[in-house]
Amino acid sequence: MDFDFTWLLFGLPIAFALGWLASRFDLHQLRVENRRAPKAYFRGLNYLLNEQQDQAIDAFIEAVQKDPDTSELHFALGNLFRRRGEYERAVRVHEHLLSRADLGHADRERAQYALALDFLKAGLLDHAEEALRKLDDTHHQEQAWLARLNLYERARDWTQAAEMAGRLQAAGQTDFSGRLTHYLCEQAEDAMRKQGDLAGARALLGQAIDASPDAARPRIQLAGLFAKQGNLDLALQQLMALPAHAPRMIPLIASELVRLAKATNQLAPARTLLQNAYQQTPSIDIADALVQADLSEGVPALQARRGYVDHMAHEPSLIAAARWLNSEPFADDDTRKALQGSLEHAVRPLARYRCAACGFEAQGYFWQCPGCQAWESFPPRRIEEL
Ligand SMILES: [Zn+2]
Repeated sequence: MDFDFTWLLFGLPIAFALGWLASRFDLHQLRVENRRAPKAYFRGLNYLLNEQQDQAIDAFIEAVQKDPDTSELHFALGNLFRRRGEYERAVRVHEHLLSRADLGHADRERAQYALALDFLKAGLLDHAEEALRKLDDTHHQEQAWLARLNLYERARDWTQAAEMAGRLQAAGQTDFSGRLTHYLCEQAEDAMRKQGDLAGARALLGQAIDASPDAARPRIQLAGLFAKQGNLDLALQQLMALPAHAPRMIPLIASELVRLAKATNQLAPARTLLQNAYQQTPSIDIADALVQADLSEGVPALQARRGYVDHMAHEPSLIAAARWLNSEPFADDDTRKALQGSLEHAVRPLARYRCAACGFEAQGYFWQCPGCQAWESFPPRRIEEL
């Protein structure tokens, strides 16, 4: 079959001509862009390199005014200032971007978010919140909601935090139910402490239990509320229900459980609960509570406090040793005092709780870490037992 080469005669020159035109067009574009790249750019860069940042930023602003395509430069500059802790400058850059009428839709949202971050970092929470609110119904909406959630947590505004967590939960990416439960518990604490509103607190805690039936905190707080009202039976009931929902938290309530059981003459079931829990988790706090239960039932002190020795056979524990020694009758009182003082000194750091996320240590148990603000990041065991 003959192949028709005639098309080459016409086709090749046309292809060359088109290629040449395309390359001319590219070169033309490049020249236009080069001409457009304003001198202010380089002046700004020069200032920046000479550490004259005020002059540099003015030069860059001038550069951006002359060329609407340089918003990237602005964003980079704003981020740079924010990262260096120069928040006023970062705000100036981003506000300038926002004031430009020719800024595209996506860039406008991005600048608004960047401005909010500037305010957040600067600790200007009111301004930050206002800037974040403007990001509803934009691509940055979810980031803005998360930032607002953290902001309300910092301000301990639990009502707003709960509303925001609800929105994020509905948006559906991450599970916020754990945090929501804590917000309700915090609101209940505020209602009790600040307003003395026990009925309101009780309603909030009921809501929290309905939302997360297996959360320990609302049940423990509700027990505290009942105890405060003098309703010790109901308080005890709440704590006795804990093993079914959050057995690992029993060390936290063991001593209160014994106190309430003793006051309501229900030591036997409380003791059974604690013994079962101890089988699962031989915690010093549970061992301690069992000794207290024995003592309350009139078991002779020497015999009751064998509990500490038994615990040490289970788990070597300085805390148990110190508690055993605490009221052990010694022939020589000076020796006891000296021993006890040394042991207690050694025990103090071991009896703390430690955040699993950041390592923050505290004498008391925290639901929210004061160091890293994580929720329930403290294991309910003492450092010695970790
Ligand atoms: Zn922490």
